[in-house]
Amino acid sequence: MKKYNFNAGPSILPREVIEQTAQACLDFNGSGLSLMEISHRAKDFQPVVDEAVALFKELLNIPEGYSVLFLGGGASLEFCMVPYNYLEKKAAYLNTGVWATKAEKEAKLFGEVVEVASSKDKNFTYIPENFEIPTDADYLHITTNNTIYGTEILKDIDSPIPLIADMSSDILSRPVDVSKYALIYGGAQKNLSMAGVTFVIVKDDTLGKVSRQIPTMLDYRTHVKKGSMFNTPPVVPIYSALMNLRYIKAHGGVAAMEKLAKERAEILYAEIDRNKLFVGTAEKNSRSRMNITFVLEPEYQDLQDEFLAFATSKGMVGVKGHRDVGGFRASCYNAMSIEGVKALVACMQEFEKMH
Ligand SMILES: *Cc1c(COP(=O)(O)O)cnc(C)c1O
Repeated sequence: MKKYNFNAGPSILPREVIEQTAQACLDFNGSGLSLMEISHRAKDFQPVVDEAVALFKELLNIPEGYSVLFLGGGASLEFCMVPYNYLEKKAAYLNTGVWATKAEKEAKLFGEVVEVASSKDKNFTYIPENFEIPTDADYLHITTNNTIYGTEILKDIDSPIPLIADMSSDILSRPVDVSKYALIYGGAQKNLSMAGVTFVIVKDDTLGKVSRQIPTMLDYRTHVKKGSMFNTPPVVPIYSALMNLRYIKAHGGVAAMEKLAKERAEILYAEIDRNKLFVGTAEKNSRSRMNITFVLEPEYQDLQDEFLAFATSKGMVGVKGHRDVGGFRASCYNAMSIEGVKALVACMQEFEKMH
């Protein structure tokens, strides 16, 4: 039976990206050696990083003056690196979920934190709007896609102060006006690559403005200067990121990814809104295209386990919701096919008929 991977992360990647990465682990570029056993400085591996950086810049139309980095530590280490490098006195955070809260918590170790708005009052089911951004703060931090709650900020907001975004779970799913951001970061394992590498897009001239000493490895300038090669980078995840960047380019780039994302989301939300058993958890104008969250209507609550078992029997993988939201979550990253979403819809319709 065909399986459809709706896992929230680590998550679906194009089959060919996985095969190409596996092949390089067996024999890298016909060298007879594995990608795992060559020097990261080898003349063969440097072109991998160079091409990944160049493709990232090309696909997201990243302006001059920005660097693209591939680091370790995950998005969670960025929660600390961002304030380390940017927070002199005060920072502003938009609280749209657990990840945003975690980012905010780290910033509090470095200075004053102003929460410009929070959707915690309604379990993060919406994106707050019309909040005021304090112009005396060093930066504003946002989380563009809230993986757990299924909400997303789909436009690049105007900020009078440097804008920093966690785009772990929606990077490369839509064109982004990078010029509006000082820094964008994310763990790779949602929409870019396998786990183990973190991408950072940083505007070079926004660095070096804090007075504190920064440990070498936590200083973005170290990695800008050394082209992500200050220490041994995660070579296999970077290689698989490159394969995925090539895949995205070959499939029409980020604009095509956005078109697909819209199509998948429209199909699935239409079914959630139509089906008598299910109801979406996020407010309609805040709905995410990447993580589609829904629960059973109150009168059908007792069907929770039954639907999960039914969906699993039909080949749906990873549709159980996060414990903070309950119900179901279908993560529809770039590699999810329209066919996969239609299979889930068919499953929901069949289950509706049974009840
Ligand atoms: C998964 C996730 C993180 C955490 O990423 P790690 O790489 O595991 O540290 C942070 N932010 C968002 C939005 C995420 O989805």
